[in-house]
Amino acid sequence: PVRVRFAPSPTGFLHIGGLRTALYNFLFARKHGGQFILRIEDTDQERYVAGAENDIIESLRWAGLTYDEGPDVGGPCGPYRQSERKALYQRYAQQLVEAGHAYYAFDTPEELEEMRRRLQKSGNPSPKYDAITRMSMRNSLTLPADEVARLLEEGVPYVIRLKVPRRETIRFYDLIRGWVSFESSEIDDQVLIKSDGMPTYHMANVVDDHLMGITHVIRGEEWLSSTPKHVLLYRYLGWEMPKMAHLPLILSPKGGKLSKRSADALGIPVLVHQYREQGYEPEALVNYLAFLGWNPGTEQEVFTLAELIEAFSLDRVRPAAVQFSLDKLKWYNQQFIRRMSVEELARKAMPYLKKHGLQADEAYVRRVAALMQERITFVEELATFCRFFYEDPVTYEEKGVQKRWKENSAALVRAYADRLEQLEPFTAETAERALRELAEEQGVKAAEIIHPTRLAISGLSFGPSLFEMMEVIGKEACVRRLRRAAE
Ligand code: GLU
Repeated sequence: PVRVRFAPSPTGFLHIGGLRTALYNFLFARKHGGQFILRIEDTDQERYVAGAENDIIESLRWAGLTYDEGPDVGGPCGPYRQSERKALYQRYAQQLVEAGHAYYAFDTPEELEEMRRRLQKSGNPSPKYDAITRMSMRNSLTLPADEVARLLEEGVPYVIRLKVPRRETIRFYDLIRGWVSFESSEIDDQVLIKSDGMPTYHMANVVDDHLMGITHVIRGEEWLSSTPKHVLLYRYLGWEMPKMAHLPLILSPKGGKLSKRSADALGIPVLVHQYREQGYEPEALVNYLAFLGWNPGTEQEVFTLAELIEAFSLDRVRPAAVQFSLDKLKWYNQQFIRRMSVEELARKAMPYLKKHGLQADEAYVRRVAALMQERITFVEELATFCRFFYEDPVTYEEKGVQKRWKENSAALVRAYADRLEQLEPFTAETAERALRELAEEQGVKAAEIIHPTRLAISGLSFGPSLFEMMEVIGKEACVRRLRRAAE
């Protein structure tokens, strides 16, 4: 059975790249009737950010990506927070030491710094604690056994390092990229257990993926270069490696990796909670992110989560980097708003009316929603762009007045108000007919009444169909607004 995991480090709030990784794991698990697990990789105490785990959990819930096992829901392979599994990693690190695949290293930070400097001077472009230099380091490969025993006894701080083979091409198959290979000479003798006893990412990640029965590792491309280290760990621990799939990089619209900084500069949010706060529909964000690396091979673009599960496959994920586009995401938001029922749309708009100090009952908001549904990108616009549905305009758009409000406008608008007052029933159709009749009688073009009327009713020179808007606003308010504007 398929078992996949999303394994974020709580070093910051969840960003959209992380959400995409979670989504692909979720889709893959659901598609294959498998399990989706949330594991918190919190072994880096220095980079721990308070509130990050909570944000990750909240964001996944908001996006609808439910997991079967995780720190807050439990499961048979818990605990699901690595900081609570510390002893486990120690055991496997010892096993590696005993088998000669890992070793104690007692180097002080100063000694390591010194080594780095020396290597740099000798022209080594990527100085590392590698298979050649370790011979001159203070570690259990070079020190006599009794010396090592003594140091350990004395409680001298140490780390445990992986003994990377000197010259080997490490190959693995990636479900998205095909065969990938790395030269072991390029790989550091990776620290597995830090001096504080905590495992590093590599150690904890491999041990947990194994113990949690993970069958497929689906993660971002930035982890590709870690994989050869994991290959070695699986080999030395005698475990079968899960299948690997590295998702394409997400690029900024200007090119280059979409980092927090590059995105900020372009006004693009990167954190999931920002999208949530800005009023994006979770389905829209999820749908958009699904397409950042995957496509269904058909023309269909709008998918519900259930439809994504049905259509998703790793075979259709391309390795090439993909460019982020806020415009496309906004288009998705529009599509999901159009798919809502008027009832749902109105219900979602109510909190925004409150937020913007507007009052209306839900039945009225439904009529506004019906008229505006095709014209908005965010639900909140049912409040912000639609104030005039709920209250009389207090100002009139200056440009519109200059262009549209003529010498005869006040008289025409007043005459129109008089007609409307008598109109029964008051509908878009009857209001329009009344206006056209008035225009004809007055010998003016309909536009000469329409434009000032729009300004009088909404304060704006643009908006939805004037007469439909008037029908929603109602006779009494329309007459009042026309008279006020004509004063
Ligand atoms: N903790 C890593 C992260 O923050 C997990 C990478 C992986 O999935 O192996 O993304």
